[in-house]
Amino acid sequence: MRIDSNQIKSLRRAVIPILSQMLSLSGSITSLFCASMISSGITSALKDTRYAQATPVNDIAPQSSLLIDDFKRRFSPAEQTLPGPIKSLLVAYPESLKTATRSGPYQGELMWRDGEVTLWTSPKRQYSLNEWSRLSPSDRETLWMGRPYRVILDQATLAEQLLQIYPRDRELPKRLPIDFEPGRLRDESFFKKMYGSQRREITKTLTVISWGEQRLRVSKKHRIDERLRRIYSDLKRLPRRFHTYYEPSAGAYHWRHIKGTKRLSVHSFGAAIDIAVKRSNYWKWTLKVYGEDKEGRIPYKNQFPLEVVKVFERYGYIWGGWWYHHDTMHFEYRPELLVNLESATGDQHIGDEPRSSTPKK
Ligand SMILES: [Zn+2]
Repeated sequence: MRIDSNQIKSLRRAVIPILSQMLSLSGSITSLFCASMISSGITSALKDTRYAQATPVNDIAPQSSLLIDDFKRRFSPAEQTLPGPIKSLLVAYPESLKTATRSGPYQGELMWRDGEVTLWTSPKRQYSLNEWSRLSPSDRETLWMGRPYRVILDQATLAEQLLQIYPRDRELPKRLPIDFEPGRLRDESFFKKMYGSQRREITKTLTVISWGEQRLRVSKKHRIDERLRRIYSDLKRLPRRFHTYYEPSAGAYHWRHIKGTKRLSVHSFGAAIDIAVKRSNYWKWTLKVYGEDKEGRIPYKNQFPLEVVKVFERYGYIWGGWWYHHDTMHFEYRPELLVNLESATGDQHIGDEPRSSTPKK
């Protein structure tokens, strides 16, 4: 192909301005980048000084990752006086909760980011697995204020929701004391406020993620979709023998009431996921197959390995295998039960369970 001088000239006319524009643009991008780096450095330094002088009420450190151990929050002096369980809500749901105030030792108000105010109640104390197993039937009756447990399940308060300590980082349970099921008691109004109370409202907060070959609808709130993507990729990295314990999923979002109750399942908010039905145990099936044990209790059955459970816990999910009324394929996003306030705030730890970081196999 022959190019004559006219063509070269016109080519130059076209190319030179583009090149020079690109050069000046890259220059300005570089300077912009540097300026923003410098200014962000200055801003964070300023922030630190300001923080040292007076703690801003809503100074929430950004969550650098999706891992539960990276959840941080600086509490204002007023927030410092809140009961541990309420602080754990602030740490766990910064996207929804702005702050909380107290009106009494175990009650106060939650300030939501949309400006709404609701009431909170806190348990007078929280119970670890060991402590719960030492409770007598009459102790439990006192705790439930004479109400039958199935009534508590239907009308749990925030205090009841936060009563039991989720046994994070422990070996798998062999049996569980009656009604020890951290996370199964839920104040429904709290979740409706956070995720939406109407089906249409919740649908707007959903997105689709891949779970292997499957497509699952899950919530975008609290970056649940990103968490599940990370969970799946972490599960994929486990040795192959674990594969049948997380695939296929039996579903995530599903608008439904819990069978035989008026309560909405956490699946209705897009915040729960069921996996590997074939490997799972559900208390009603257990009762059907094995009947009650000698003491009239539901026998405990589980096939899930700790490795799979731990992946979910790292990202803020609790496991239905820690429930007396067990549901071992069920995982739900409940970071308030997993955040370690000790590492997040320098505050005293809310639980008293020994935490073995290297659970035996
Ligand atoms: Zn489920």
